[in-house]
Amino acid sequence: MENRLFSRLDELSGGLLKGLAHREELVTGSVLAKAGDKIDRMVFPWSGMISLQLDVGGKSPVEVTMVGTKGALGSQGAFGECYHVANAVCQTGGVSLSVAVAHVGDLAQSSKEARDLLVHQAQCYLAEASLLAGCAAAHSAAQRVASWLLRAMDATGSSELWATQEIIAGCLGLQRASVTSIARHFSDKGAITYRRGRIRIADRELLVAHACGCQERLARQKQPF
Ligand SMILES: [Zn+2]
Repeated sequence: MENRLFSRLDELSGGLLKGLAHREELVTGSVLAKAGDKIDRMVFPWSGMISLQLDVGGKSPVEVTMVGTKGALGSQGAFGECYHVANAVCQTGGVSLSVAVAHVGDLAQSSKEARDLLVHQAQCYLAEASLLAGCAAAHSAAQRVASWLLRAMDATGSSELWATQEIIAGCLGLQRASVTSIARHFSDKGAITYRRGRIRIADRELLVAHACGCQERLARQKQPF
């Protein structure tokens, strides 16, 4: 496993970034940052996934974007003093490397490619948050669950995922009973298998057929990663 964004930035720094990075364990359910916290470090997941969530006054916060092995938490911090706009919660445990934003900022000043990659990264999260707002308004619960599973698998780079139905329901602002019924339907169709919070995609094409397509729109926006 690797984090592709980190690997490219490290190459552009001539290997300096790796020497400045710290290994950080991602513990499922832990809060890495809260909305309003100053961005002081970038966190690059090596495995696992971080969910950015907004409290909109409901039973639980809803997810606005996810950060996996192709991206990083806090990329906008490389361009000057700024603050987290959402809570960053480790959704799927793993390991990460974290680097002080000041070091990444130095690299962004000296390398146009690094700067472009970081801007692209920040734009991707903004685009994802905007698209998901439209997705929630226009697409069915089943389509959104299928799309969420595909995005989560893409973010973690794995066809298996640890996520309870309660977590998925919370991320999408759905009732848990709805997610249970949808997951059972997908399982009966042979698209996924799930057992005690462990979800595996058994037939990706079938799951794609049930999804709304927002995961593919996002994947296109997230190129070159
Ligand atoms: Zn959608």
